Amino acid sequence: MINVTKTFLPPINEYIEYLEKIWESNWITNQGPLSEELESRLKDFLNVDNLLLVSNGTIALQLAIKALALKGEIITTPYSYVATTNSILWENCTPVFCDIENKTFCIDADLIESKITDNTSAIMATHVYGFPCDVEKIKSVADKHNLKIIYDGAHAFGVKFKNESLLNFGDISTVSFHATKLFHTIEGGAVICKDEKISEKIFLYRAFGHLDDEYYSVGINGRTSEFNAAMGLCNLPRINDFILERKNINLLYRDSLSGTGLEFPSVPEGIEYNYSYFPVLFKSESMMFEMKNKLLENGINARRYFYPSLNKLPYLNTESCPVSERTASRVLCLPVFNGLSSANIKFVSEIIKNNILS
Ligand SMILES: *Cc1c(COP(=O)(O)O)cnc(C)c1O
Repeated sequence: MINVTKTFLPPINEYIEYLEKIWESNWITNQGPLSEELESRLKDFLNVDNLLLVSNGTIALQLAIKALALKGEIITTPYSYVATTNSILWENCTPVFCDIENKTFCIDADLIESKITDNTSAIMATHVYGFPCDVEKIKSVADKHNLKIIYDGAHAFGVKFKNESLLNFGDISTVSFHATKLFHTIEGGAVICKDEKISEKIFLYRAFGHLDDEYYSVGINGRTSEFNAAMGLCNLPRINDFILERKNINLLYRDSLSGTGLEFPSVPEGIEYNYSYFPVLFKSESMMFEMKNKLLENGINARRYFYPSLNKLPYLNTESCPVSERTASRVLCLPVFNGLSSANIKFVSEIIKNNILS
C-alpha cells in the first residue's frame, strides 16, 4: 500500500545513541536535557525568541487559547483539521466560521471584518498545506478591532515569509510534530509566542502551574518526554533534505499530471515553501470518489484532507461557507513522504491519467 504519508524513521543507531544518554541520566521526562536541547535547536532553526515544546499540536492550541484568556467568539477557518475547531470548543469558546479564499485555501482575510461582533476576542487561522494566510491583512484587522491572533501552523514548519519563519507571526503560533508531519517527534508540538509574559504563562500551564513547591496558577500536563525529544534531535538535522526531496516530489507530480485538467495549487510567490502536501481538486465530488476508489484498487491511499468543511461538523449548527464546502467535497491529497520513489509518483500519476476521463 502506498499511503498518503509514511513516517520517516532515522537510522536506528542514531536513536540508540540518544537512548544510551537517557539510560545514563535516568531522566526520561519532565523537561530533561534532550527536551532542553531540542527546544534550543528549534529556536535557532526557526529564529524565534519564545518556543515551548508540548505533547502535541492540539494541546498547543488549547494552551494558546488559555494563555491569551480568550472568551466568547473566535473567528476561524472552516478548512483545517478538526483539532482547530475542537480546541476552540474545548476551551468553551464559540467558533465563528469565515470562508476561505480559492487560491491558498486559507481564511479569506477580506471577509473577517464582516464576522466581528462585540463578543469576538480573536482570530484563529490555519496556514493550510503550509501556504501562508494573509498575515499582514489579518494583523491590520486584528489591530483595528483589538483582537488576538493565533495561527495553527501544524503544516507550516520550515516555511518562510519575507525571510522570516511563518511561525513567528500572530500573537501565538502552534505547530504539530506528530508522526505524520514533515518534522516529527513521534507525538509532539510547540507553542511559539511573541510576548515573553505569555510564554512564561504557558511554561507554567504546561506543567500543572507550579514550580517545585510554589503554586502559581491552574495548569495541565502538556509536557513532552525525552524519547520524543530524542526523535526530534535525530530528525531536525535532516529537515532541509526533507524539504528538498518533497520539492522534487511536488515537481514530478506537476509534470506527470499536466494536461489532466486537474487543479493543483501553485506555490505562492515570495515564500520559501516546505512542499508538505500535494492536494488536487477534481471537478466534482463524484469524480473525486471515483478516483479515490480507483487509486485504492491499485493500492494507493489518497486522503480527503480536509473533509468535512468544519462548519458542517454534525455537532455544530453554523451558517454555510460555500468555498470551503466546495473545496472540501472534491479535494484529495496524493501521497507525499520522504522515501517516496519516482517510480511510485509516476505510478500514481498514471492511474489518475488513465482514469480521469472515464
Ligand atoms: C495535525 C494537525 C493538528 C493536530 O496536531 P496533533 O499533534 O495531532 O495534536 C492540528 N491542526 C492541523 C491543521 C493539523 O494538521
